[in-house]
Amino acid sequence: MNKVILIVEDEARLAEILGEYLVREGFRTERAKDGKRALELWRAARPDLILLDLMLPLIDGLEVARRVRAESDVPIIMLTARDEEVDKLVGLGLGADDYVVKPYSPREVVARVKAVLRRTNAHAPSGLLSVGALSVDLSTYLTRCHGEEIALTPSELQILAHLAREPGVVRGRAELLAVLGDDRFADLRTVDAHVKNLRRKLGPCGDQLETVRGVGYRVRP
Ligand code: CA
Repeated sequence: MNKVILIVEDEARLAEILGEYLVREGFRTERAKDGKRALELWRAARPDLILLDLMLPLIDGLEVARRVRAESDVPIIMLTARDEEVDKLVGLGLGADDYVVKPYSPREVVARVKAVLRRTNAHAPSGLLSVGALSVDLSTYLTRCHGEEIALTPSELQILAHLAREPGVVRGRAELLAVLGDDRFADLRTVDAHVKNLRRKLGPCGDQLETVRGVGYRVRP
């Protein structure tokens, strides 16, 4: 599932360039050019991260950050005009996760976005992996397709969870075999058998498990 980044920036050209870079890196983007729209979109689109310009029409970035923080832990990266502003902002304790000073390179912003998302994911509880209609709850080991519960063996579950953690990424059979733990007597074909069973048990979600010839398997994002 692609992460959604809300870009809040009143300079259209900047917002556009940031959007292009983020989309190229596989993110989905939403754009707001003032603080009021930012709050509306934040509620409507539930972004995974907010890139927030400080100086905005209608409601400024500080106030947007305050209102979002009052209700949510969504990561916020502040885009600020000058270096000295950062000290002031940190002092205000807005709970922004990072600050980028203008002028910035879009590449740098994308790198910060990825770093912040990595950090927040690392802190997340074992959590729920969901890819399309398929979901795997890692704390209860419940797997669902279109909300319908599916019973899996521990091995099937481990393989599915490993694939679903990073949708689109192809995992080799040897890697999947290693996920199962004791592989001394196991054969790579064990993995094929598990995947075959998974496809059958997952029903309508089964075709989300893709074979990449000569390489391995992946969950289609
Ligand atoms: Ca601005």
